[in-house]
Amino acid sequence: MIDLHTHTTESDGTLSPIELVDAALAAGLEALAITDHDTFSGYDEARPYAEAKGLPLVCGIELSTAWGVPKERTVHLLGYWLSSPPTQAFRDWLIGIQEARRDRNRRLAARLRELGMDVHVEEAEALGRNMTGRPHFARVLVAKGYCRDIEDAFDRFLDESAIAYVDRDEPSFAEGVRRINEGGGISSLAHPARLGRTAEDEDCIVATMAAMNVHAIEVWHTDHDRAVSERYLELSRKHDLLATGGSDFHGAVKPKVKLGVGPGHLAVPMSVLRQLRSARSQQSESPPRDQDSVVK
Ligand code: AMP
Ligand code: ZN
Ligand code: FE
Ligand code: FE
Repeated sequence: MIDLHTHTTESDGTLSPIELVDAALAAGLEALAITDHDTFSGYDEARPYAEAKGLPLVCGIELSTAWGVPKERTVHLLGYWLSSPPTQAFRDWLIGIQEARRDRNRRLAARLRELGMDVHVEEAEALGRNMTGRPHFARVLVAKGYCRDIEDAFDRFLDESAIAYVDRDEPSFAEGVRRINEGGGISSLAHPARLGRTAEDEDCIVATMAAMNVHAIEVWHTDHDRAVSERYLELSRKHDLLATGGSDFHGAVKPKVKLGVGPGHLAVPMSVLRQLRSARSQQSESPPRDQDSVVK
């Protein structure tokens, strides 16, 4: 069993990179990918430790991208580096993304103050280390007694549909895919169920994404029961895409989600990672050709 979707304290998880590796070993995982939001620092920190402990660790990331022109919604996009590390160009591009997140955080704090709450960006950053995000603001709102719990903070203030929500500059989905692919990674649409669309719409959206050269979709995820996972597996085959899967483990902030097993129809086998690796090596062995010929 493997888990290709997890978060550490370097984004909005509650286990440090080292603790996550220990938890993966304790859970008996055969391989783990760290996919923090907008940063590799958790992976970078965990790598030597995972190597020493003999746990195969995959370098990953989860990006927030804008879907639709004008933007309809945020869509999460996973990237995986299986054979070589991310290029310097990709890491440089990421610095701009991180800056846009900090700018959003400053505006979000100002918006919360405008609504009468005494919240400062430094308070969220004290919890959030590298990649402070809305979950850290939610924890500040709870700690200061403005909200009952994290869910309440999102429902009333932080959710995309709530009153304190402020947008941030996100790359388009197509740009995210292009940057990951050109940066040596495999790109995968995260938790397609969160598109919140009908099966028919999903088919159309995934077709569009495939035309943008996304390599994979996340077939197995905590939010997908067996029937949903089967539908996404079909969809991946129909559009000639690879399949990825993982729990989206965040630690204590999402206590129901367990490494490797979910809930959801999880227990992703090692063969999934082998397939990704073999697709990736075929891709890098083939001579550079035009974009259309990227092996999916
Ligand atoms: P950010 O990247 O800072 O905009 O924060 C996005 C993160 O907030 C997501 O990855 C989720 O972990 C979390 N999140 C978003 N919506 C909700 C919600 N309604 N309830 C709990 N957590 C949420
Ligand atoms: Zn998260
Ligand atoms: Fe996500
Ligand atoms: Fe995630």
